[in-house]
Amino acid sequence: MGSEAEMTYDNTVTLDPRIKARLKYDEQGLVCAVVQQYDTHEVLMVGYMDDEALRRTLTTGRVTFWSRSRQEYWRKGDTSGHVQYVKSVRLDCDGDALLIEVDQVGAACHTGKRSCFDEGGPLPAVVGERPDGQQEVA
Ligand SMILES: [Zn+2]
Repeated sequence: MGSEAEMTYDNTVTLDPRIKARLKYDEQGLVCAVVQQYDTHEVLMVGYMDDEALRRTLTTGRVTFWSRSRQEYWRKGDTSGHVQYVKSVRLDCDGDALLIEVDQVGAACHTGKRSCFDEGGPLPAVVGERPDGQQEVA
């Protein structure tokens, strides 16, 4: 029973200190979390987590954020029904961003769009082109 991660770390009361030590917080004590649909890899939204929001996300199967605007915990879907079921949680190289793979019910964006990046839409970016014959750097 249980994955290796569940047996190695203890997040039952507080976030395991070994995880906490790897996080690099912003000035509000938060870490950015990128949320992605686990099967299509669609990027859905970005939210913020403190230690407790991450602990709840790691231990309950549901994504919980810290709402910077309301200054409270926000379990995604409790009011909207647009629940995010956790599939995996990863930390980036320098500990300042999380990648949460989820199964998203309905819309991730509060506007009703599936993805926040559908709602915001594209900006006018110059497209870069790799020169012919440029090799991958080993
Ligand atoms: Zn949005």
